[in-house]
Amino acid sequence: MATPFIVECLDCGHRTPYLVTENICPHCGSDWRESRYDLDALRPRLPALWKDRNFNLWRYRELLPVIAHVPDISLGEGGTPLLRAPNLGMMLGLPNLYIKDERQGPTASFKDRQAAVTIAALKEAGVTEAVIASTGNVAIAYSAYAARAGIKLWAFITSLVPPVKMHEVALYGTQVIKVTGNYDQAKQIAAEFAKTRALYVDRGVRSVTTVDAMKTIAFEIAEQLTSLLGPPGASGSLPPHVPWRTPDWYFQSVSGGLGPVGVLKGFEEMMALGLVERAPKIANLQTEGCAPMVAAWKANKEAADPVTSPRTHIATLATGDPGRTYTVLRQRMLNNAGGLFESVSDEEAFRAMHIVAKMEGMSVEPASAVAFAGLIKLVREGAIRPNEVVVINLTGHTVPVEQSVLGENWSRDVAYPEKRGQTGELAPEEGLLAALNRVTTDRYRRIAIVDDHPHVRQLIRRILQAQGNYTIMEAEDGRAGVELIQREKPDLVILDLMMPEMDGFSVLEVLRHDPETAEIPVIVATAKELSSLEKERLSGQIQALMQKGDFMNDELLAEVKALIE
Ligand SMILES: *Cc1c(COP(=O)(O)O)cnc(C)c1O
Ligand SMILES: [Zn+2]
Repeated sequence: MATPFIVECLDCGHRTPYLVTENICPHCGSDWRESRYDLDALRPRLPALWKDRNFNLWRYRELLPVIAHVPDISLGEGGTPLLRAPNLGMMLGLPNLYIKDERQGPTASFKDRQAAVTIAALKEAGVTEAVIASTGNVAIAYSAYAARAGIKLWAFITSLVPPVKMHEVALYGTQVIKVTGNYDQAKQIAAEFAKTRALYVDRGVRSVTTVDAMKTIAFEIAEQLTSLLGPPGASGSLPPHVPWRTPDWYFQSVSGGLGPVGVLKGFEEMMALGLVERAPKIANLQTEGCAPMVAAWKANKEAADPVTSPRTHIATLATGDPGRTYTVLRQRMLNNAGGLFESVSDEEAFRAMHIVAKMEGMSVEPASAVAFAGLIKLVREGAIRPNEVVVINLTGHTVPVEQSVLGENWSRDVAYPEKRGQTGELAPEEGLLAALNRVTTDRYRRIAIVDDHPHVRQLIRRILQAQGNYTIMEAEDGRAGVELIQREKPDLVILDLMMPEMDGFSVLEVLRHDPETAEIPVIVATAKELSSLEKERLSGQIQALMQKGDFMNDELLAEVKALIE
């Protein structure tokens, strides 16, 4: 059985027993209240309980506002993997980059934590009908659990939400109400509807269930990092006096801000339980077209001014008015390790979507890609140090990707040939092979990378492949490079200077003296500081000079595109 807990008013400190249907402080009327568990009593008990439990959200049930054991509406929420991101990490120079893969929850976004706990609490309290407003994923998650719990759900969804998401909501039996208007307006209408009918309405970050559900992300990350990297202090100078690790950064794309509020509460409880030493710095990412929190943070303001007409294609993140959540989140960050708020454009997010998919094999929804785009931007700006441990919340799976995100030429057509052989049976090989050959004829621009460091070749290859369609060839020294280039006549050469035996200067000389290769553009990528004499030798011979280590600056890609497209 779970330990009893109380709720505390964040405004007047009044403490009362918890009732899921009561959401206002009986003393002062505030609706900003949080759960308080008897952590002193729990501290000695928890480790033994955890030893025998599966790795899912209900592992932490003593710290959740649900009295039952694992509720019978569970769909296997929580316990998502924490995956190392070696390729993205290599590109960004962040060897300790980890992805908390919340796509792997039952409704493919981290909203299923909040829905599972809230619907469990409602079911336990005998509630049979509820109302939510949503930018999409909340509606999907609550609908799935409400269906399982036999709770009738009304979902107020802004018309900006992609139709496929609305269809999924309707499939679960939820009554969908499309609101022509922004998310804040949908929330208002939902609240009025709930009030007139005396129905439970989800209050986002102002609900005890939602914040406590999201804090399980923090517990899981600390446990998983510890099993991946070993206990804290084991490699440092101080002896470990807490069992679990804290990452240096937690990255998340934010709309209402519930996720980071919950994650910080989780780390605060783990600190009080003696499990971790500190909370991570929090990086909150928004889209430029709807970034009220970023604007307030950069102006060092305690309250955020609402964005009345969000301008973004990413509906999931279109909370224009974060209300007091921003103030609460900001204060909580400042009380802990701090962090930052940053914004990226929709286009940067779509590009990050390609990069994450092509580099790590993970298809993320645009809202999640915002966090990855933010990570790329912040690494470039030097806000993240290379040795820091970064956990990024991959908040949700992509829905069928808009063609506009994929761009041109994303598929090729092959018709299955109908030609029949002499004996009458299908003999497709000939025609099919011919058709497939046409598909694979080289329509991509061809680039040769000549560099003696395999990891540099791999890095350049990955950056180019993640951001465009190229056929890449590699040579591991100057001599092999010359052979490759003379044989293949690529559209572009990316050349290292310092190589054993035949260096880049000599390669250039050979290429420029051979009429077959003289016109092929060359980008020199070098870690070497060039003398003025060396620069002179290169001038007129090459199209661009790049410093290695600068590859994440878009310059490399921009040069490549300028030279061959
Ligand atoms: C809800 C959501 C967010 C934003 O989360 P908050 O913590 O509520 O700001 C980000 N990404 C996805 C996929 C979401 O569904
Ligand atoms: Zn109060």
